Amino acid sequence: MQKRIHQGLLSSTIRLTLSYLTVVMLLSIGFSAVFYHTSFKEVMSHVPPQGLLHEYRNASGQQIVDDKEIKQVFAERIAEGRQSLLMKLIIINALNLCIGALFCYYLARLSLRPLRESMMAQVQFVSNASHELRTPLTALQTMNEVALRDKKLSLTQAKHVLQQNIDEVAGLRKLADGLLRLAKYGVQPLALRETQVQEIIADAVNQVLKAAQAKNIIIDTQVNDMVIRADKDSLSIALAAILDNAIKYSQSNSTVRVRSVKKGNEAHIIVSDSGIGIAGADLPHIFERFYRADESRSKQDSVNGYGIGLSIVQKIVEQHKGIISVQSSRGKGATFTLHLPRA
Ligand code: ADP
Repeated sequence: MQKRIHQGLLSSTIRLTLSYLTVVMLLSIGFSAVFYHTSFKEVMSHVPPQGLLHEYRNASGQQIVDDKEIKQVFAERIAEGRQSLLMKLIIINALNLCIGALFCYYLARLSLRPLRESMMAQVQFVSNASHELRTPLTALQTMNEVALRDKKLSLTQAKHVLQQNIDEVAGLRKLADGLLRLAKYGVQPLALRETQVQEIIADAVNQVLKAAQAKNIIIDTQVNDMVIRADKDSLSIALAAILDNAIKYSQSNSTVRVRSVKKGNEAHIIVSDSGIGIAGADLPHIFERFYRADESRSKQDSVNGYGIGLSIVQKIVEQHKGIISVQSSRGKGATFTLHLPRA
């Protein structure tokens, strides 16, 4: 797939180079023709008309040569000059062709670079997304096939298989929603309105309340009254994703804290947990699409997820002209801060 894209891009680069080069050469040849023509006219304007040729005389007043001879000399010189000018223009155009070809190829590559990068990112995204989709689908298929082949399958076991099916399908739906959000938040601009920070926090906390209760985790909120320009639904989805992670990666019976504080012209929304934390080596990558730290994937303590939550959060925060920062170390919990401009 990637090879085909490279080949396609190479042929596009060559076609674009040829188009640029055609324009450059047309201009160069056009200018040369005009230059040749005006130079010739300029030279001819200095040639005395035929009737005045007899005025070319020496100091004692004698005619140097006859009209015919002088005409011959002028004609020869003019022909020589035209030929030499023509040769120089041909050499200049040939040089233009060689240097122009290299320059146009460089220009074509430069013009196509954003397209190449976005195509490669798209291919990477599609291949990662299909990989993530295939894993739970394979698990579903195997689970159902095994259950179907089991002749002594009891009603309780069948219900257990069905429950597992439902869980896997719910996970797949979450993944599909996440993929749609990733596509949506990259393109559509958000409609920002003046919004109270506490409304966003309350909305986000509501979205994760069930998950927190399931692990008996307390969500402790200390909210400062502030107004920011936000798309309430999108920003609460982002905050809910951070809270969801804080719950997922924390031990049962712990506390997740949410605070909002004024910092100059910014509103900071801070989510901190005392969970498994993030290793220094993983920190620079956690906002990349489909990135999951080894800790989150490890077999004995694996936590559900697809590695797209934080990349969605980052896109949403960027659309609010804000940034997201994280402080964490392995085993010492994590603190995520949303820095948003105040209204
Ligand atoms: P996932 O669905 O895997 O949680 P995210 O994009 O939300 O995907 O997060 C990317 C990775 O960042 C996670 O796999 C996890 O390793 C790490 N991570 C995010 N939030 C936390 C947190 N609060 N505590 C520990 N690790 C976290």
